[in-house]
Amino acid sequence: MTSTIDILSVPIQNVTMEEACQFAFQFIDEGKAASIATANAEMVMKAQEDAELAHILQDADLVVPDGAGVLWAAEQQGCHFKERVTGVDLACRLLKEAASRQTAVYLFGGAEGIADAAADNLRRIHGDMNIVGTHSGFFTDEAERQIIDDIRTRGTQILLVALGVPKQEKWISDHMYELGPCLCMGVGGTFDVLSGKACRAPKWMQEHRLEWLYRLAKEPTRFKRMLALPKFVAAVKSSTKAK
Ligand code: UDP
Repeated sequence: MTSTIDILSVPIQNVTMEEACQFAFQFIDEGKAASIATANAEMVMKAQEDAELAHILQDADLVVPDGAGVLWAAEQQGCHFKERVTGVDLACRLLKEAASRQTAVYLFGGAEGIADAAADNLRRIHGDMNIVGTHSGFFTDEAERQIIDDIRTRGTQILLVALGVPKQEKWISDHMYELGPCLCMGVGGTFDVLSGKACRAPKWMQEHRLEWLYRLAKEPTRFKRMLALPKFVAAVKSSTKAK
């Protein structure tokens, strides 16, 4: 197993994209129910105030270093993550591998029609992907039971859940063992990108750790959420000073 770096008590595995993908398919090959979370500064800050989320992240089978903030925080502690493994890139890497292996994939979450549009684009890119089902992320309590049955009875092996943080992590934790042997991953806004509804930041911004700025420019309503970033910086600084 690879090493783990704790960022404000959230244990994050020091894995490369390739290693994360290998772990994921190991779980699938073993027929194990398993969960992957993608930690960024916003999620780590949520976990400071949300004990349920903090426990879920401690129990997850794999937590990858998603955000530029967690890489920076590790450096403040004198540690280095091997590389950034963003949720959207890891989801795309798993989907590519799933296409070549014909692994059964289910896309759950996003606004009405978004998971379907993402599925159409994935089939266009990868040819005959084995996408066994899709469902939007806005549903009633009665529909939830049917969604769970649908995911299980269709033999889903990879379930991507796009309900936003922390709803998706809590949903996976609550239902993982009702879904059959299935690898579950919370993917946030990934279907918005895969469907073409949202764009990713240009490569140079990603490489200069400025993806947050691009998202803020595109969606100014994210401003409130981004207040978590200076709080994260302050919390990391004070925790490293205390050590
Ligand atoms: N969403 C959903 N159901 C909900 C709340 C949110 O399906 O009850 C979806 C929303 O449509 C969006 C995704 O969850 O596609 C969250 O995206 P966001 O950009 O907030 O995630 P991030 O990538 O920042 O984690």
